[in-house]
Amino acid sequence: MLEKLFSKLEASYEDMVAIRRYLHQHPELSFQEDKTAKFIQSFYEKLNIEVKGKVGGNGVVARVYGSKPGKTVALRADFDALPIQDEKDVPYKSLVPGVMHACGHDGHTATLLLLAKALNELKDELEGTYVFIHQHAEEYAPGGAKPMIEDGCLDGVDVIFGTHLWAGEPTGTIQYRIGPIMAAADRFEIEIQGQGGHGAQPHKTKDAILTASQLVVNLQQIVSRRVNPVESAVVTVASFTAQNAFNVIADKAKLVGTVRTFNEEVRTFIEEEIERVIHGTCFTSDCAYNYDFVRGYPAVVNHAKETEFLIACAREVAEVKTIEETELQMGGEDFAYYLEKVPGTFFFTGAKPLDNSQGYPHHHPKFDIDENAMLIAAKTLGTAAINIHGKE
Ligand code: MN
Repeated sequence: MLEKLFSKLEASYEDMVAIRRYLHQHPELSFQEDKTAKFIQSFYEKLNIEVKGKVGGNGVVARVYGSKPGKTVALRADFDALPIQDEKDVPYKSLVPGVMHACGHDGHTATLLLLAKALNELKDELEGTYVFIHQHAEEYAPGGAKPMIEDGCLDGVDVIFGTHLWAGEPTGTIQYRIGPIMAAADRFEIEIQGQGGHGAQPHKTKDAILTASQLVVNLQQIVSRRVNPVESAVVTVASFTAQNAFNVIADKAKLVGTVRTFNEEVRTFIEEEIERVIHGTCFTSDCAYNYDFVRGYPAVVNHAKETEFLIACAREVAEVKTIEETELQMGGEDFAYYLEKVPGTFFFTGAKPLDNSQGYPHHHPKFDIDENAMLIAAKTLGTAAINIHGKE
């Protein structure tokens, strides 16, 4: 069965590339992906595959039914782009000023569409049900996964697999990880309210800049001195705003930053510790404060059994030369929500362009993928979807 699937995928490779390039030229921002969603939906309609649009927003879900009973396996691809100007010099460069597929979601979509087509052609010989989740708005919290789940995209699903084309690793590499693989990504905002005054009379003021400066330093003690060193965490103050004339002491200052963690307990601990540090620092200088901690996506936590299974599936794909454990990734992904509901795994498919020795990172204006990686992703996901029915 895998041989048949692989030869169908190989035969469809040119279509896969053409779809990916079309999407690359017509990127749409998160929550605005109307045309992309319609494109995906009509692809399925033309093939007479059951499909539903507007799932939890712009999401599209298609289903292929095998002729024999079996598990329901979901495969997910996201399809939103980023507010970045495409600076590549290629014929398929973005036609939309300031918008670009700079994370490879165009490739995810093309991969899943042609995999769905191939599985549909084999459905008479297949067991179980195949759910193709085309998810909008991965790049922008609160994201598309959560509303799609609430709208039923996981109903009846036994297991889910997803991959990210990964430009940091060469084509032919599959990277997995059991347990946490990508971080919870949260945002905090702190406003310090002091009391302004004359720069020459500091004793009559409460200096918001001095207090906020102490706070930037004190916050760094949370990871270095409060969090257990065997846990990974980041506290970054990314923005410091305060303004005044050269001879005026500022009454207000604002700090904005991000927290990255992999463990829910550590996440909550840091949220509370930040408040404690703010409280203590502001107590010293007699300033007031306002603190907001906005939770983004939770950590992506892979299930052990499904990850081991995926590793075995990747071994069936001849083009996969290296299967290795990835280091923890501090970036976020709303695939996390699916894995909170059903078992599964999220893995990386190496997609570093061969002519690009340094490799532009994801979200870079010159980001690109090696399109051959799409075929590897399709074969690996397809193997998982088929082998889940028995070859475990
Ligand atoms: Mn991405």
